[in-house]
Amino acid sequence: MNIDKNHLCHPENYTRGRREPITYLVIHYVGALGNARENARYYGSRGGIGASAHYFVDHGPGASVWQSVPEGHTAWHCGRSDRKYKHPKCRNVNSIGIEMCCHKDKSGAWYFDPETVDRTVELALDIMERYHIPVGNVLRHYDVTGKVCPAPFVEDARAWLRFKQRLEEDPMTEEKVQAIAAEEAAKRAAAERKAAVSNWAAESWAKAKKKGVFDGTAPQSPMTREQAASVLDRLGLLN
Ligand SMILES: [Zn+2]
Repeated sequence: MNIDKNHLCHPENYTRGRREPITYLVIHYVGALGNARENARYYGSRGGIGASAHYFVDHGPGASVWQSVPEGHTAWHCGRSDRKYKHPKCRNVNSIGIEMCCHKDKSGAWYFDPETVDRTVELALDIMERYHIPVGNVLRHYDVTGKVCPAPFVEDARAWLRFKQRLEEDPMTEEKVQAIAAEEAAKRAAAERKAAVSNWAAESWAKAKKKGVFDGTAPQSPMTREQAASVLDRLGLLN
């Protein structure tokens, strides 16, 4: 992944270092128009903004992931001055914050470009792998504080679930694809063998089917006592 680090955040907009290990990933939307580079430049150009994030992601050509705050520092992306959190544990100090750039449609609703979502998925999977963050610890800003952020993932919870689903999917290697396919083929072959009549029994099986002793299916399945009783009865041996 191509991550541009040319406009790192102004040091007055975040806390240096971390007091806790990174265990959460928090997703945001910028809530304003402007691409990742413009946002990174803005947060890098001045102090006193009182907010920050580790990454900005957009859909543009070239570098579309911009680092703002380095991961080892505490960005100010999901804090609450009144401490009234929805989430019991996730805080700025133990999380990485990703800001997704967005657009507005004609009705005025915010939406993400699919490319922005794709790149955020890629970035999130990379961060999750490096810090061993489970998918359950990937949250919306909304889940942490109740703020409607990222709006496209709060107003449409299905979009958020679909995003999370993509983080759950183990990207399949060709090796894994082959292994699963081979396992399925072996199971099918075993089922076919079970469904076929052995040569030595073919004649008797045909007769039994013709007489209505068996219905002609599952020739190699074992028979229970009740089935045996029923067969003997059908042959008139119990009268
Ligand atoms: Zn947010």
